[in-house]
Formats: sequence, structure tokens, C-alpha cells
Amino acid sequence: MTALRLLPFIVLAAASLALAQAPFSGDSAYKLTAEVVALGPRPPGSAAARKMHALIVSRLKSWGWQVEEDAFTASTPIGRLPMRNIIARLPGQPGGRILVVSGHTDTKKLAINFAGANDAGSSTGFLLELARVFRNAKLKHDLVLVFFDGEEAIRDWSDKDSLYGSRHLAARWYKDGTIARINALINVDMIGDRDLVLLKESFSSEPLQRLVWSVARELGYAHHFGNQGWAVEDDHTPFLRLGVRAINLIDFDYGPNNSWWHTDEDTMDKLSPKSFEVVGRVVAETLKRLDR
Ligand SMILES: [Zn+2]
Repeated sequence: MTALRLLPFIVLAAASLALAQAPFSGDSAYKLTAEVVALGPRPPGSAAARKMHALIVSRLKSWGWQVEEDAFTASTPIGRLPMRNIIARLPGQPGGRILVVSGHTDTKKLAINFAGANDAGSSTGFLLELARVFRNAKLKHDLVLVFFDGEEAIRDWSDKDSLYGSRHLAARWYKDGTIARINALINVDMIGDRDLVLLKESFSSEPLQRLVWSVARELGYAHHFGNQGWAVEDDHTPFLRLGVRAINLIDFDYGPNNSWWHTDEDTMDKLSPKSFEVVGRVVAETLKRLDR
């Protein structure tokens, strides 16, 4: 498809966004990420994590979101650790369902000074920018943004040592009936990479993945939405197991042979505002289509 034939789609999409709200800004998402990353390593229970949670909550409240702090204690290989998911809600119309966008905020506990710019600064800054952009949106469904704690394994990845926050919330939402009301869940992880190619993550719900990939094509971002289909366990999997339609948007090829992942190379200079913007515009437009 030529750029010219694509243009009417882009203009139309941009116009429909402009009517409702300001577009997702990559610069803003990048700056919000940098603020969180400046706090230093943010593993569960750390002083920096507490500061980050306070920062997230104050931003969300200043933009008018209903905020719930979901504090719990997790049993980990190094003992019990305090963890905290943050849940932001924008109520839709009565009888509507729930659209969830999620990502994790914790950084992996490592012996190095791990900045965690992409993992998980990028998902944190991304969700904050989404909150800024959607703060006045009038949707049919509730829009719920979830900032998960404890995605990373404290020691080595296993069913019991990983996904603490999402396993906790999925179980809670199963008990209180929220799970059945979810229309779709979109999880983002490591989406700030300046060389952005998202995986066609193969645990993800196929119809939802087809929708996201087709929106990306229409917006002219097809080259950032890859065809490679590995399975990656992430914060969407506890919800998939309960029958929720869910997708994980992740670029799991960070630096040469993924060598920046979980190393002191994961710093802000490896990220690009443009990557945030690509994912943000696609997620924003996908949410609108899911809301129809
Ligand atoms: Zn990680």
C-alpha cells in the first residue's frame, strides 16, 4: 500500500481522536517515564517503589481518576514482601463493561544499579500518559488502568515466583465478579525500545490481536508490529486463564540479542518518544473501537 492511499485513513483517525481528546504524546510519555526512572531501582517493598506509588497516585488524582490502592503481602523466595497494585478507574455508562489497560511498575531485584528504563519504566510512563489523555473521555465502558507490582521474579521465574500483582488481582476480581465484566485487557511491557518491533505474542487472544494489528496498519505503523510469534508469560496470563480476552504488547528484543534486558544497559537513552507514541496511538484507537 502506498503512503498516498494510506493518507485518508490517517486523516480520518486523527480527526476522530481530535474531537474527543488530545492525542497520545510520545514526548509526554517519555518524560513521565524519566521521572519514575530517576527514583532509582524500584523492586517491591523498596523506598523508591513507595515514592513511585505516591507519584502515580498523585498524578492520577490530579487528572480526576478514581484511584484504588490494592496493597497486599506476597510470599516470595526471600520472605513476605509488601506489594501494591494501583487501579485507576474512569466510569462509563450504566450497563457498560470494562476495558483494562495494564502494565507493571516494579523493576527486577538485581545486584546492579538497575535503572529499568524500558522494564518497567516504559509501561509506567505509558499508562500515566494514557491516563492524561483519556481523563475527560466519554466512554460506554469503564476504562480501568492497572499499574501492577511484582511482575518480576524475585529469584528465578516460576509459576510461584512471578506475576505477583496480576495473580493477586485476577483472583480478587474472579471472587467479586469483575472478571466476567471485562470486555478486553491490553497489557504493555517494554514498549519504549527505540528500535521497536512488537512480538505477535502467542498466548494472546487472536481476535484482539488481529484488531490491534489492523489498527496499526491503518495508522501506518505496520513495521513496528511484527510477525514473530513467541509465547511470553506476562501480566495478561492470569486473566487469560480465567477466560478474559487479553493481549500482551511486548518488544522482547532489546539491544543486540536482547542484551540490554535486565542489565545496567536498560537506560533512558535506549528509549524513543516515537516508540511510546506508536503504541499509544494504536492502543487509544483500539480502545475506541472496543467501546463502540
Ligand atoms: Zn523484566
